[in-house]
Amino acid sequence: MDQQYKYLLDEKDLPRQWYNINPDMPVSPGPVLHPVTKEPVSPEFLMKLFPEEFVKQAVSMERYIDIPEPIREIYKLWRPTPLYRARRLEKALDTPAHIYYKYEGTSPVGSHKLNTAVAQAYYGKLEGLKGFTTETGAGQWGTALSFSCGLFDLECIVYMVKVSYEQKPYRRSVMQTYGGDVTPSPSTTTKSGRAALERDPNTTGSLGMAISEAVEVAVESGGEYKYSLGSVLGPVLMHQTVIGLEALKQFEMAGEYPDIAIGCVGGGSNFSGFAFPFLYNNFTAGKSTRLIAVEPTACPTLTRGLYAFDYGDTAKMAPIVKMHTLGHNFVPPGIHAGGLRYHGMAPHLCALYDHGDIEAVALHQLDTFKSAVLFAQSEGIIAAPESSHAICAAVNEALACKEEGTEKVIAFNLSGHGHLDLAAYDAYLGDELRNYEYPDELIKESLKSLPEVKL
Ligand SMILES: *Cc1c(COP(=O)(O)O)cnc(C)c1O
Repeated sequence: MDQQYKYLLDEKDLPRQWYNINPDMPVSPGPVLHPVTKEPVSPEFLMKLFPEEFVKQAVSMERYIDIPEPIREIYKLWRPTPLYRARRLEKALDTPAHIYYKYEGTSPVGSHKLNTAVAQAYYGKLEGLKGFTTETGAGQWGTALSFSCGLFDLECIVYMVKVSYEQKPYRRSVMQTYGGDVTPSPSTTTKSGRAALERDPNTTGSLGMAISEAVEVAVESGGEYKYSLGSVLGPVLMHQTVIGLEALKQFEMAGEYPDIAIGCVGGGSNFSGFAFPFLYNNFTAGKSTRLIAVEPTACPTLTRGLYAFDYGDTAKMAPIVKMHTLGHNFVPPGIHAGGLRYHGMAPHLCALYDHGDIEAVALHQLDTFKSAVLFAQSEGIIAAPESSHAICAAVNEALACKEEGTEKVIAFNLSGHGHLDLAAYDAYLGDELRNYEYPDELIKESLKSLPEVKL
């Protein structure tokens, strides 16, 4: 009998609505607090920073929210994305498990981030913005937003962490090709950038510093520009649910249902987008899929961070939210999975993790690259180093199935390809990479800086 390798949906099967988990949260993700007063912020405050429609979505209690037609039309450039059965990986592992992966690297920018970038740019256009400001670490988010802004004739001002700006010139070229305006951060163009340079003229920059610069430019533009964030916030997680909603239909085609669903976590958006529709079925349809969030041991936010209120950025300009955090001053080591180096995590995910609805594991980078190489050699795809964390967790689960002799269905989200991350593969293949476990004392030290919040 012919074996099936991929499950493809038609354009007409592209979801017409996003899934909003707000009404189904078993516990509250906590309030959003003003960084100075530390009081809960009003939607009006958030609307100075983010598009109005985006803020409305953040507080919406509607379970399904319509995807506007112009956004769906752009999604059709690459969506629906394929679900693959990784038969050659199964064979290489000699496992009885069935392994599936949803591949988001087919988007024109190479990752899932375009799912929310297109939506945010559209909402910015609706209210007549001149453009967006944002930050980017490894460059994937800046790339997605630059392309999306271009589609709607908006400017895109990107603050790129300086070390990445220097080490990843091709990411910068991609953003500039799409029309993005890229500045290395910290820069002399903002107060917070100048302050950071005064503290340390040789700083390599951090995501926290770049966020501060982007927020400052938006806030001081008198409403011409707003700020866009590529992860962490509720509406971003919701925009990503197109991934899981498509996957549900594809599993119907395959006649199977995942026992385990896996995704890597930086700020939590691709994992949430993949997992929340399955979680909804856990809550309401008697399913019991294990949902596993995978992070690096070098930035172990969920597995070793404190569940507490903290600032979203280093300069304490972004709102305070309740999340698992390593402290807003935490500067993670320079591991190659740049997209997984954020000190915090999406408040929704943290609440669900704290409540026991999802699991988390931390993996060493050498193990993730080993799995990524096996995956490349069996399935052919060079995965982003971030996504390799999900591959590695899936491989570990499949090997456990082999040990136990159980035939579980394991699904993971392959958030992006690694064609611009070949320096990382070079370093791995050249035996230049080391494992890194963040020392307890340094985490404790960093956590001393948490804000005091009375609620
Ligand atoms: C940015 C990025 C991540 C991490 O961000 P999340 O919000 O946690 O999804 C993971 N994979 C890829 C390919 C990315 O670009």
